Amino acid sequence: MLCDSHAHLDDEAFSYDLDSVVGRAQESGLKYIVCPGTDIKSSKRCLEIALQYPDVIIPAAGVHPHEAKSWNEKAEAALEDIISSCRVKAIGEIGLDYHYDFSPRNVQMEVFRRQIRLAVKYRLPLICHLREAESDFIKILSEEALPSPPGVIHCYSSGPDYVDEFLSRGFYIGFTGVITFKKADRVKQALGKVPLDRLLIETDSPYMAPVPYRGKRCEPAHAVLTARAAADIKGISYDELAAHTTANLLEMLKMEQQ
Ligand SMILES: [Zn+2]
Repeated sequence: MLCDSHAHLDDEAFSYDLDSVVGRAQESGLKYIVCPGTDIKSSKRCLEIALQYPDVIIPAAGVHPHEAKSWNEKAEAALEDIISSCRVKAIGEIGLDYHYDFSPRNVQMEVFRRQIRLAVKYRLPLICHLREAESDFIKILSEEALPSPPGVIHCYSSGPDYVDEFLSRGFYIGFTGVITFKKADRVKQALGKVPLDRLLIETDSPYMAPVPYRGKRCEPAHAVLTARAAADIKGISYDELAAHTTANLLEMLKMEQQ
């Protein structure tokens, strides 16, 4: 049994065959798939999809740093309305992205802080996107109260040197198909440093497809390939890795195993 802790099933890439995508995931042994929102509309859609597949899809709601510029009071109220659904188990995806800078950095920081406060209010973990913004990100983590557990740094790309920093703050660390790429030494080294009780496996579908699907549409069933690569790096069996990462996800989301 494996889980995909991050898949954008609301993406239009899945608009024509979501049934088969979810079916293939289940046939591949996936128990749960977390579907994080990237803005208000997307978060609503993730909740809808979760109602359509209540045994498999777990929705999260949040405004991605790329979309931070769309934040206003109305958006905050709408997000809180979605979060108050008992089905929503995490706030995400939220965070900072200074690689693309699609929203001004001061706006990204403010919107990240406000969503952390909502997460604390609703006792939900964070699903964090972090790209080339480590020092501001850590500053915000230090200044804000955080939920417990704090959540996950998804699609980890900060390199092995930051792993201890996030572990010491209680975060889980999520790895995608990037660990199957030939030139991904720093990400593989980071994975090597993450203990089994803090590791999550994700696809970030429709992006980040593992080898041999690299460059194609990624889907949750591909999490199996990433989990196999992670098990190899850790020197354990696939089953052991799948059991640990599934237990970690349920623990993070405060869900009972069924
Ligand atoms: Zn994502």
